[in-house]
Amino acid sequence: MAKLIFLGTKGDIEEENTHHRYHSSIIIEEDDFRLLIDYGRKHPLELGEIKADAILITHAHPDHYIWLEQDIKTLIPTYLTEKTVNYGKYKPINCKIIQNNQIFQIGPLEIIPYPVLHSLRCPTVGFKIKTLEKFCLVYNPDVVDIVEKDKILTGVNLFIGDGSSWKINLVRRRDSQFFGHTRITTQLNWCKRFKIKDSIFTHLGKELLEKEREFSKQFSEVKLAYDGMEIWI
Ligand SMILES: [Zn+2]
Ligand SMILES: [Zn+2]
Repeated sequence: MAKLIFLGTKGDIEEENTHHRYHSSIIIEEDDFRLLIDYGRKHPLELGEIKADAILITHAHPDHYIWLEQDIKTLIPTYLTEKTVNYGKYKPINCKIIQNNQIFQIGPLEIIPYPVLHSLRCPTVGFKIKTLEKFCLVYNPDVVDIVEKDKILTGVNLFIGDGSSWKINLVRRRDSQFFGHTRITTQLNWCKRFKIKDSIFTHLGKELLEKEREFSKQFSEVKLAYDGMEIWI
């Protein structure tokens, strides 16, 4: 079995509370291998303490990508798109360039990066990840839409999504392009459509920090992640 550890669970907001203090970031641990996804400005542990074997980066916003602002030196292989690496002020030393829809294997995990709509300036990917036991999850902490939902959301056991908003609209439009964050309820509709049984939302925004209890009462089958939450998959 593999273990998920939510190191941080809030979005790029000033507000915080004891359960949501750090920017969204997750560790997937299987067979002594530790994969870290995203590492932003507010983190509970330094990279040396996390002891990750590899790092994946979704996009170059400061709540996901420390190298935008800080020259952190590490030899841990860091997987990111060419656009992300070229956007930051600094770069990880051991960059591994990834491309949308190109499968790769790191340790025991099979990874497919795929395009999601979220930012006009910082192209974003989500990750579809399969464990040794063929458990399949997707990780989209920041998302307006998944470009190829049919291909990506088929065969998924666990959807980890963007908790920036429940009822308020955080989707913006410039010319014909959309950016921002879609509602949790829209993402739950995707889960229904693709028969994904389990969902966890991270990257909580101001609305969810204020209405966490109310949300959980209404959606008792949906988990809201909190800093330090661990689950076995
Ligand atoms: Zn974010
Ligand atoms: Zn973002």
